[in-house]
Amino acid sequence: MIDVINLKKDFNHVQVLKDINVTVNKGDIMVVLGPSGSGKSTFLRCLNCMEDPTGGSIIFNGVDIADMKVDINIHRRHMGMVFQHFNLFNNKTVIQNIMMAPVHVKCQELSQTKRRNFVTKVKNVFSSQKKELLPITTTKAQIRDEAKVQALDLLKRIGLEDKADVYPSTLSGGQKQRVAIVRSLAMNPDVILFDEPTSALDPEMVGEVLDLMKALAKEGMTMIIVTHEMGFAKEVANRILFMDEGRILEDSTPKEFFENPKTPRAKEFLSKVL
Ligand code: ADP
Ligand code: MG
Repeated sequence: MIDVINLKKDFNHVQVLKDINVTVNKGDIMVVLGPSGSGKSTFLRCLNCMEDPTGGSIIFNGVDIADMKVDINIHRRHMGMVFQHFNLFNNKTVIQNIMMAPVHVKCQELSQTKRRNFVTKVKNVFSSQKKELLPITTTKAQIRDEAKVQALDLLKRIGLEDKADVYPSTLSGGQKQRVAIVRSLAMNPDVILFDEPTSALDPEMVGEVLDLMKALAKEGMTMIIVTHEMGFAKEVANRILFMDEGRILEDSTPKEFFENPKTPRAKEFLSKVL
């Protein structure tokens, strides 16, 4: 699904990612481990086009999204991202947060279709060969109604349908993060990237977020997760990437990684965190 080839990222002439090569398969639950500053967040941000790579390619669904000429917004729609600090819009209600992206994208598509049809109609007036108009089967009101039904379903799934009309500031950290996760689901992504989704939570709220992530993993969602939750990594991941100083030092199964790490850096890391 994602082929990362010789990915490099510099900040001010400092190489933060050095030749990252990895292939993510559909259904992979890939946990990215590594010391602070090893480049984990930068790696995820490059995958999601939030940073422009200095070199290399990221082939996502057959298209190189590291190429500046491609429309990254189209690819981002298929890639969800969940952040440490939730990144909900505090001036929107919970349900508005979930509906916003799908409504925006679908209304944009509708406007484009209407614009194209308008141009076709004008051309048809002057041409003997009449072109057919694109079918329009929806309205903005319908788009919003459908998004609302979907958002309520997603809230029901996490037991928060009664919170639809409240603002995020009234939610607990665990609730905010679960809303952020279902918000990313509303776009029906092919893959979701998680950057330390439980690091900002009080300990008693970590479990509810990890449980939701486990449920997604069971459903076959492809996920790339930066986390320090070693229990989760062992139990849920099918692959562990270990990063250090901008390189992938290990790409192995959890069993291999935790029982028999190959590199001294991984051994040292594990001796500190386990
Ligand atoms: P991790 O997530 O593994 O802790 P990061 O990807 O956040 O690591 O950071 C890797 C390195 O890149 C760090 O040395 C960090 O200071 C540097 N870095 C990250 N983002 C920027 C930026 N926007 N500008 C300059 N340096 C950055
Ligand atoms: Mg980070």
